[in-house]
Amino acid sequence: MTITTPDWAARFSERMARVRASEIRELLKLLDQPDILSFAGGIPHPDLFPTEAIQAGYEAILADPAQAAQALQYSVSEGYRPLRDWIAARMTRDGMPCNAGNIMLTAGSQQALDLLGKLFLTRGDTVMVARPTYLGALQAFNGYEPKYLDLPENGLSQGLVATVRERAIGALGYFVPDFANPTGLSLTLAERETLLPLADDLDMTLIEDAAYRELRFRGEALPTLLSLDIARSGGIEQVRTLFCGTFSKTLSPALRIGWVCGPQAVIEKLVLLKQGADLHVSTINQMVAHRAVAEGYDQHLGRLRAAYGTKARTILTALERHMPAGVTWSEPQGGMFVWVSLPEGMDGKVVLERALAEERVAFVPGEPFFAEVATANALRLSYSLPDTDQIEDGVARLARLIGRMT
Ligand code: PMP
Repeated sequence: MTITTPDWAARFSERMARVRASEIRELLKLLDQPDILSFAGGIPHPDLFPTEAIQAGYEAILADPAQAAQALQYSVSEGYRPLRDWIAARMTRDGMPCNAGNIMLTAGSQQALDLLGKLFLTRGDTVMVARPTYLGALQAFNGYEPKYLDLPENGLSQGLVATVRERAIGALGYFVPDFANPTGLSLTLAERETLLPLADDLDMTLIEDAAYRELRFRGEALPTLLSLDIARSGGIEQVRTLFCGTFSKTLSPALRIGWVCGPQAVIEKLVLLKQGADLHVSTINQMVAHRAVAEGYDQHLGRLRAAYGTKARTILTALERHMPAGVTWSEPQGGMFVWVSLPEGMDGKVVLERALAEERVAFVPGEPFFAEVATANALRLSYSLPDTDQIEDGVARLARLIGRMT
């Protein structure tokens, strides 16, 4: 008998044609070198992890035999009840009255996006996204083989209805209304108020990804899409918006705790999908997260907002001071990102290659954040990791390079 090695590529499912490693992600993986000043990773600063509260949580739970027995055991797919109650109360306070039956815990909000894709997308269905949008959402949805409908640059308006109406009917709309990744920008109140009647008109389901909502450091909070939806429809059971939250940016991404909030009819189906995917979120991590948020969460958020606010001001001032004419950027009021538009004809990928070689600076070029036709002359700077001196220095170096390239 001859032993043959399978031709794996020929055996993978058809949907794998859409599942590809991003070139840029691969490149950025190689950048863990100490002398590179990086604006690439959109991840929380480790000094801002509530390490002591997390340590105290694990210790207290494991020291108590009854709690330890629960914490180390399998648990229900919808999630740890006290944490779901806490989240429901918090969402209610933020204008989204709901209860634990409307909440399912997920392994980060990334899993929520995957399960929502699985629940709503049949091959060829349309997903409406902003341009640019969160790369991880495209990766989650790609496995379900949708078509994308990129929103025009000028965003949401009634004029949109006229131009994309046919293609948008019945679409799944994905939005990051607060401090989006990669732009740092938020939907205005007018845009939020436009979106819901539009979704009614086109019979769309909306996904609201609120990953950065708690990280506002300037201006007043705007109502979530879900809160506007509840206000006009009469209650959480009548909405067409599914809200995704996460503790990744506020506690720690390693806990892998996110959630979906929506009508029970949707949550019940998601629970079945969650069961099939991985049974439940780590029981002990849910219990630890619950202890960590039950006391002093708002105070902790205050620290995060102050820290990211200082860094954001630093990067905006540095961009103003150093960037040559023809370069523009977004002015975030929260979150971790600034989106930089380069002069026409300049390619973010080429700028990255030269920035690495000539200035030892890293960032993510804009291209992977587009579902359809990409804008090449853009890049994403994350200010969460570098300290203020590094931000000033890194922007100066990057500006010098861009100056040489113009
Ligand atoms: N949504 C957005 C907009 C994000 O930027 C991220 C993390 N990069 C996520 C969702 C997923 O985060 P997590 O799964 O850790 O909650």
